[in-house]
Amino acid sequence: MEVKCKHCRKDLSNKESMQLLTSHNEIKMNVMDVGCATNDSESSSYLSTENMPEWIKCIINKESWTKGRLYCPNCNNRIGSFNFVHEMKCDCGECITPAIRITNSKVDILFANE
Ligand SMILES: [Zn+2]
Ligand SMILES: [Zn+2]
Repeated sequence: MEVKCKHCRKDLSNKESMQLLTSHNEIKMNVMDVGCATNDSESSSYLSTENMPEWIKCIINKESWTKGRLYCPNCNNRIGSFNFVHEMKCDCGECITPAIRITNSKVDILFANE
C-alpha cells in the first residue's frame, strides 16, 4: 500500500510498511473498505500506532501523545490528525476508532492489488 500526499505527491509511507485501517481497526483492502456500514464512507482512514511511519511518530512524540494535526513533511499540507486524549467512536457508536486519522481527500492511496 502506498500513501501519497495529493498536493506534492510525496510518498508518506517513506518506504516503510504502512497499512491504513478502517474505523473498525481492520486493514483496508481497497479504497471503499470502510469497516462499518454506518460510517461516512470515504472521509477517513486510520493508522495503528504499531505500524506508523517514523515521521508521524516524531510528531506524536513532540506532542507527548496528546493530540494534534498531521502535516505533510514535504509541503506542509494538512493530511490528518491524531487524538490520544479522547477516544473517538465510529459513527455506529460501538467501535473506538484508531487514534491517528488520515483525511482521504488529502492523500492518494494506492493498493498493491489494483
Ligand atoms: Zn505534500
Ligand atoms: Zn462502526
